[in-house]
Amino acid sequence: MSGNNETPLPNKYENFNKWYNEILQRAELVDLRYGVKGFVVYRPNSAMIMRQVYRFFEEELDKLKHAPCIFPVVIPLEFFKKEAQHIKGFLDEVFWVTRAGQHDLNKPLLLRPTSETAMYPLYAFWIRSYKDLPLKLYQSNSVYRYETKATKPLLRGREFFWIEAHCAHRTREDAELQVLEDMKVMSRALHEVLGVPFMLLERPPWDRFAGADKTYAFDVLFPDRSVLQIATTHVLGENFSRAFEIMYKDEDGELKYVQQTCFGIGVSRILATLISVHGDEYGLVLPFDVAPTQVVIVPILFKENGEAVMEKCRVIFERLRERGYRVVLDDSDERPGAKFYQWELIGVPVRVEIGPRDIEKGVVTLFRRDTRERMAVAEGELEGKIEELRKDILRVLRERGERWLEENLKEIGSKEALMELARRGGIGKMPFCGREECAGEIKAMTGGFEVRGVRVGEKWGNLGICAVCGNEAKQVVYIAKPY
Ligand SMILES: [Zn+2]
Repeated sequence: MSGNNETPLPNKYENFNKWYNEILQRAELVDLRYGVKGFVVYRPNSAMIMRQVYRFFEEELDKLKHAPCIFPVVIPLEFFKKEAQHIKGFLDEVFWVTRAGQHDLNKPLLLRPTSETAMYPLYAFWIRSYKDLPLKLYQSNSVYRYETKATKPLLRGREFFWIEAHCAHRTREDAELQVLEDMKVMSRALHEVLGVPFMLLERPPWDRFAGADKTYAFDVLFPDRSVLQIATTHVLGENFSRAFEIMYKDEDGELKYVQQTCFGIGVSRILATLISVHGDEYGLVLPFDVAPTQVVIVPILFKENGEAVMEKCRVIFERLRERGYRVVLDDSDERPGAKFYQWELIGVPVRVEIGPRDIEKGVVTLFRRDTRERMAVAEGELEGKIEELRKDILRVLRERGERWLEENLKEIGSKEALMELARRGGIGKMPFCGREECAGEIKAMTGGFEVRGVRVGEKWGNLGICAVCGNEAKQVVYIAKPY
């Protein structure tokens, strides 16, 4: 660690770009010097956070009887071509493999932009009978999309990491229930583990995943008042099962098409969200459950009683490790202030400081990263206090995020209000006619604000007229500028 640059970071609400670029570098999260547009190097500090995020979601999916699998990164063109909407939606974003060794390939391959067309030809082999259903598989992988818009590290790149879960069911009802289950997994993760407030929206028909009947998406509001989609789940219906001939023999002996769903959890984007939504001018602030290091112990050493302090630190370290925490004892030669700075920069949620005076009094000093408060705790009550902090840090982060979302959510009743939203940023809630043409006008007027969809589970009263075109309103939609 090199901790000489100890001036605080810029204010993220005032200058998000500057703050974001600086935190990526200073906390050694990614390196942008690889030199290929849209591709970044994930350094250990970010890769370790992603590993925690992956572990959490993989365990959740396993509990819900999904199974892991690994498909190749290359997809043959003839697979990719099979579903008409899908190829239309992705063709402009595909990376091609056309040459190998000294000659051109007879059949070009593409790097997966997503894996429907890699997996479903095999689903057609594997699924024979209703007894093979549901088939619930997922893979943790990277996908490749030739983004032509400006790229931004972790937010929008040409390579990103995610989990994609692909399910095949007997009935449409089962498929709809699967999508509900996906929504619950993601809502619970955001609410109870990551501490990130979100909007769960059903995307309008023109913004669905290519080949889906319905698309539900999780949008998060960033400090610059733009939104980032971090997960989606889709009802695919029979669109792919017809294209790939995925059929099963039902109990009644009839051959039927399976009903499919897919669920994407954007792990790179969740990393960007944790950095951006929770971070502050001292660096990252991580929720306890996904922090690679949950507790760091820093000895406060003086010459005459250094050994007693180190011994106490080792005892506490063993105790916390046995308890199952990811704990580090920082016994490097740096002075305590420099250690504090570095551990705060990478967002370690709880710090334990132990000095000779603490030992005399039978206490340890705890520091919580979210509020930067210090407190003395009786040594015997340490684990109990850490458990309390684990919950309270999550609560504080979530409430901060909720306030931010609330402050930046505005009712839109007119074109003027829409233009005001375009100037300020944030999310607009607006009665809407439901027409794609009108959404196009909104986008043109505001320089990129989009109709993100209707909020799942929201009930509407009297809708009145569309705030943009004056036609009869059919729904209430949310409008924001996406990354
Ligand atoms: Zn309208």
